[in-house]
Amino acid sequence: MIPDKKYIFEHNEYCEMCGDKTENHKILGQRLNQSQGFRPKKKTGITVSVKKCRNCGLLYSYPMPIPFSIQDHYGIDPEEYSWKEDYYVDDPDYYSTQINTVKKLLPEKSTGMKALDVGAGLGKALKAMQRAGFDVFGIEPSPNFRTRAIEWLKIPEDQIRLATAEEAVFPDNHFDFITYGAVYEHLYHPAAVLERSVKWLKPGGIIHIEVPNAENLVGKLINRYYRLRGTNYVTSLSPMHAPFHLYEYTVKSFEEVCKKLNLELVEKKFDVCSIFHFPGIMKPFMRKYMEWTNTGMQLTVYLRKPLN
Ligand SMILES: [Zn+2]
Repeated sequence: MIPDKKYIFEHNEYCEMCGDKTENHKILGQRLNQSQGFRPKKKTGITVSVKKCRNCGLLYSYPMPIPFSIQDHYGIDPEEYSWKEDYYVDDPDYYSTQINTVKKLLPEKSTGMKALDVGAGLGKALKAMQRAGFDVFGIEPSPNFRTRAIEWLKIPEDQIRLATAEEAVFPDNHFDFITYGAVYEHLYHPAAVLERSVKWLKPGGIIHIEVPNAENLVGKLINRYYRLRGTNYVTSLSPMHAPFHLYEYTVKSFEEVCKKLNLELVEKKFDVCSIFHFPGIMKPFMRKYMEWTNTGMQLTVYLRKPLN
């Protein structure tokens, strides 16, 4: 018998992003701890509920399953990602959209700008930001990924700390740019982590966050399909299996957290990304529709700390 992971289950009383009471929030359905496929009634496992905030539209796991050890979720071998064929390619254009956008948003300055990558992974964004002239630092909670970043992309050891965003310590007003790429949906208490990192940011500095879009069309269609089949399953989130998405976000979620933390939402962007689970013939139409209606898979926001 393989022992299962151990969790504590947290019942959030308030929406993490806007503070609305969770007791009246809409229950979207149940999410299994594995892929549910087209016939989820045939699957066994543990489920948690997925709820939607009535005020800001945030999708969240309720209760929130928090593993005893973070390594239960993220202690995986980076080689497991090698199926992603572009994963180990050191592409000179990697992160160029993000870097160009942030350079446009930051006050004019030629040298000495400091950037922090939260959840640095293999260090690809660190390398890209270094090439773009930033002094770079990263934090990464997985020892395996951190070691690979040091070996593969020659990131100096003292520039990539083994730490979670919840426990890392940096001086106040230190960074010009903080980036959360494919990280923010994995945090148990994202608003609290954001609040910590705002302190590390210089006035006028920018925080960049990329997250799954709660309004994405694919999720809505699959959830409708599950209802038509007479189940109460939903495809939204993956709180207890890879890729461990705990939240999906809306623009309003960020507008609300910006009010709370005194930030300005200065730029937002929706990307369709890859469409899975649908026949190839439908994809071009879906892609166009998703572009028109801002219902792509990914939402990107840039938040600025005011100068005073
Ligand atoms: Zn909310």
